[in-house]
Formats: sequence, C-alpha cells, structure tokens
Amino acid sequence: MKALVNTAPLQMTFRDEPDSVMLADDEVTLRIDAVGICGSDMHAYHGHDPRRVPPIILGHEFAGEVTRGPSALLGRRFTGNPLIACGVCDYCVQGRSNLCSNRSMVGMTRPGAYAEFMTIPAKCLVEIPAGMSASRAALTEPAATALHALHMAQRAAVRPIQESTVLVIGGGAIGMFMALLLMHYGVRHVHVAETNPLRRASVAKHAQAVAFDPITEAGPQDGSCDIVFDCVGSKHTRTAAMKAVAHGGVWVHVGLQDWASEIDMRKLTLAEITLIGTYTYTMADLRATVNALHQGSFGDCAWVEERSLSDGALAFADLHEGKSASAKIVLRPH
Ligand SMILES: [Zn+2]
Ligand SMILES: [Zn+2]
Repeated sequence: MKALVNTAPLQMTFRDEPDSVMLADDEVTLRIDAVGICGSDMHAYHGHDPRRVPPIILGHEFAGEVTRGPSALLGRRFTGNPLIACGVCDYCVQGRSNLCSNRSMVGMTRPGAYAEFMTIPAKCLVEIPAGMSASRAALTEPAATALHALHMAQRAAVRPIQESTVLVIGGGAIGMFMALLLMHYGVRHVHVAETNPLRRASVAKHAQAVAFDPITEAGPQDGSCDIVFDCVGSKHTRTAAMKAVAHGGVWVHVGLQDWASEIDMRKLTLAEITLIGTYTYTMADLRATVNALHQGSFGDCAWVEERSLSDGALAFADLHEGKSASAKIVLRPH
C-alpha cells in the first residue's frame, strides 16, 4: 500500500509500505478515505516527540470503510477512537477511557492513518451517519476534544454557559472548534486570542467570534472572563488566562505546548478559581461529536482544507511555515 511516512525530522515521504496487518482477532482493516493533520503530528514531524520515532506512519484523525473483519462490519463507514483503552482498568470502567492506565495509540504505538489502509480494534470504531462526507467525519477526533473540554467547564461553572463571557486562547483547530461550539450553544460573548493574522481572520469569519491579537490589541478586561479555555498551553498563555479569568471563574487547560509555569496561587485561592486539565475525549464524546458535526453544530467546516495524501509532504511544510490560513488540513488517500 501507499503511505506517507515520517522518515526523519521535517521529512515526510510518500512511498510503498507493507500492507497493514491485523494484530489481534478483534481488529478490522479500514480503507482510509480521509485523515486530518493534528498539532501532535506536527510535533512529531518537528522531531519533538520521543514517543513517535521515525520511520513511522502518523495520523489518528481518520475516517474510512471496513474492508476486512467481521462480515457484519464489512462495507460500513467509521471514524473512531485512536486511543485504544483496555476496557477493564478502574478508569475504563468509570467511563473515563481517556485516562486508561494500559492504553496504546494509533499513529504512535502502532501504524497510523496516513496510508491507504490501517488496522484498529473494532471496539474503537464510531459509525459515520449516512450522508456525511469522510472529510467531515475525520474532524470528529479534534472536535471531540473541544466538546469534552466544554462539558468539563460546564460541570464546574456556577451559571449557565450562555450567560458567560468566554475567552478562547488559540485559533488553531481546537480553538476554532471551541469557538464554533460556544456560538452554537448560544454564548454571546466569545473572544478568541490568536497571533496569526490569517487564522484570526478565519476565526472571525467562520465562528463570528471577536478575534483579537493578544500582542497588539486589548482583549477582554482583566478578571472579566467567567470561563477561559487555553487551547495553546504555554507559559505566556497561562499567565494571560489567570489574568483574564473572573473571580469564581473556570480556567480550562486544553493545549500543552510546554508545562513549566509559576501560577498565581494567591488569586487561585482567594478568588476561588477552578483550574481544570482536560485530555482528549471518551467514546461517549466521540459518538456525540460525530452526530453534532453531521447536524451542523460546528458550522459548515468550510475553513477546512482538503489535499491528496500524495501531496502530504507539502501540506506539512506549509503548516510548518505558517503559510496555511486553514487550521486543519485533511488528506485524502484515494
Ligand atoms: Zn489529533
Ligand atoms: Zn483501561
């Protein structure tokens, strides 16, 4: 089969690879129809992820059709959970499979979806609604990260989210999905901080949120945001988040660009700030998200760009150089 292989830092090679093999009895082979490029794939491409060592087939935001496996599944179309959970540890039985102590991952511990075919355990599959395009279905994984973070915030917030002033830090794919979802939920005051002018324009146009440059423009007033989603997760953005969050507010840490920080524990304590770390999604989030995407809760997704998998190396290079206005590029192997 053809695959786009990360062969060295900053190098993606489209080449022939051995056909994907099913590693256990409960697995299926998917013919990949669409696969998104994630920030974590970019991280590996830059050579910054010790868990993803070249040569490796990355890619975990997939949609495809079952070509081998139980006859009941053949020909059906699925996206799915790239985190393969054990199903029996304490976290799994609590429904928090994202915290599974024995998890493995597509595109990391096993070959990913930048290929014509990929194998995966059948239990990870999430069916694609009839009439939904593969490219849109491939957005399920990143969109579910936003949905999961929103649900975590809603559980901690004192007032309904519709009444809240919300700051989203970062206008990449997760920040964009977050802004789209908040607008869909009826939140009227959504501010998005983004330094890249192309992405800022895209967020303003597609999410209709107030997009601003946190370096040159004043955002919402200090202490005015009931909820802050940090979709970047750097030392700078954490400082900005703590400044922006209102007394009694909720600060959700979604991105993880770096992790060393001094946090103003005085404000956190005296102002009763709830700080929440969120990681990926559960199967329930993925199932809810595929339907939400299909029903338009994330808009028309016209900001997403499609390219052929054979041109994938250029897509990585364009994202690396900040040349793409699109916060998400979906690759098509066929
Ligand atoms: Zn991803
Ligand atoms: Zn588990």
